[in-house]
Amino acid sequence: MQYISTRDPNHAVSAPDAVISGIAPDGGLYIPEDPDYAGFDWKALLGKDFRSMAEKIFSFYFGELPDIPGLVRRAYGERFDTEEITPLVKVGDRYILELFHGPTSAFKDVALQALPLLLSESRKLCGSTKETVILVATSGDTGKAALEGFRDVPGTRIIVFFPDGGVSAVQRAQMVTQEGSNVLSAAVRGNFDDTQTGVKKIFVREKAEGIPGADAVLSSANSINIGRLVPQITYYFKAYSDLVKEGALQAGDPADFTVPTGNFGDILAGYLAMRMGLPVGKLVCASNQNDVLTDFIRTGVYDKNRPFYRTSSPSMDILVSSNLERLLYFLRTEDDLTVKELMEQLNTEGKYTVSEGFLQKLQALFGSGCADEEKTADTIKEVFRSHQYLLDPHTAVGWYVSGEYLRKTGNSRPMVVLSTASPYKFPEAVLNALGEPHGTDEFEMMDLLHEKTGVRVPENLATLRGKKERFTDVVNKEDMYEYVRSQLVK
Ligand SMILES: *Cc1c(COP(=O)(O)O)cnc(C)c1O
Repeated sequence: MQYISTRDPNHAVSAPDAVISGIAPDGGLYIPEDPDYAGFDWKALLGKDFRSMAEKIFSFYFGELPDIPGLVRRAYGERFDTEEITPLVKVGDRYILELFHGPTSAFKDVALQALPLLLSESRKLCGSTKETVILVATSGDTGKAALEGFRDVPGTRIIVFFPDGGVSAVQRAQMVTQEGSNVLSAAVRGNFDDTQTGVKKIFVREKAEGIPGADAVLSSANSINIGRLVPQITYYFKAYSDLVKEGALQAGDPADFTVPTGNFGDILAGYLAMRMGLPVGKLVCASNQNDVLTDFIRTGVYDKNRPFYRTSSPSMDILVSSNLERLLYFLRTEDDLTVKELMEQLNTEGKYTVSEGFLQKLQALFGSGCADEEKTADTIKEVFRSHQYLLDPHTAVGWYVSGEYLRKTGNSRPMVVLSTASPYKFPEAVLNALGEPHGTDEFEMMDLLHEKTGVRVPENLATLRGKKERFTDVVNKEDMYEYVRSQLVK
């Protein structure tokens, strides 16, 4: 499969090149050149297990890479706490697709357990001998998932920066106790923006002058890499196959999916699954109080000029959803500006409008809705009361929006709600929602939540408390480049 840039369809590269560079030279995102996937036999996936499905899908997108079965086995092995990898659970009148069984209890594991291997194999194929150093700025979740993904992957090293005092106690503990021979995390004196700006500056400086004395190239594990997107396609097929197995539908009948959305990566994987033939009725895009996507899908106007809210579902607190650029390319009509022009407008004016034809196509495929903080909390409480199923705040947004969607449309297709995190990653928000008084220690909150609900605490979180802190450096934001350099030149 060749990959083209959303901003220049004449620029085409191989899969390994797309994975290595992450972003196209013109600033566009890589998308598969053949959007209709004529050759893909999706029905052959039905009834298979997660790994067999991943093998077929990875081979389709990354056919150049050797030993895909081996890669899939390494990515989806013991680090997941269930053989199913992404189990489908019936809750009331809907299904929940649990994507949080990986080593950090967040859905990003499904992609970040595979991306490092895809990257390392791609570099080998291109004959690169330099070490690939992944730099990450994180506000919490991505950093840990990336550390676990890159841990001990040959030819790679990872350095994660997080704002000092700007992540939760559990998130900090997850990062500073990380095991592995090629990992490092450090706190930055500053907030998340300072941290992210610091990392961006390191990339700019490396482009200009390299890292003198180091035999390494820098790279990012960012969610716009096609190597992070493709692994997520697998669980849409897995969920569908499970619905067929369970008799909820006949092979060929459509199912609906509701996706708690931030950067639009997860839901775009669903769109790609659809293009590969998966029978999907609607993809319902669920937002929290930051509802820029809800408005876009309703009106065709994307306008990021609006207040930014910090919510109890922080991974969805986003005003510019980068992966939407890929959908703009796929749904563009002759009446629309080019993707490059739209992105320029977004940059200069903070908004753009798509054509009527685009909007029609968009609404034929996507539903949308949002939940504010009160609705999110009420949903956690209500779903636990009615079904003894404990939702995390991100999934609660999805559950609420799926319910509204079902109520408004009255349709009877099976509805799958993607669950993107374990409730134990957000114990305070969940206890508040349940109306349980608690102290300020997050570890005690986990215990309390377990006591009150009986829901099992994931092993990786339960064992965190006693773990030894390996990384205690705190770096000034001006010194981040030197800090990285001092790690690489020894
Ligand atoms: C990243 C994340 C999301 C949003 O996924 P996108 O692919 O960015 O839309 C939702 N929930 C959780 C828990 C996440 O970590």
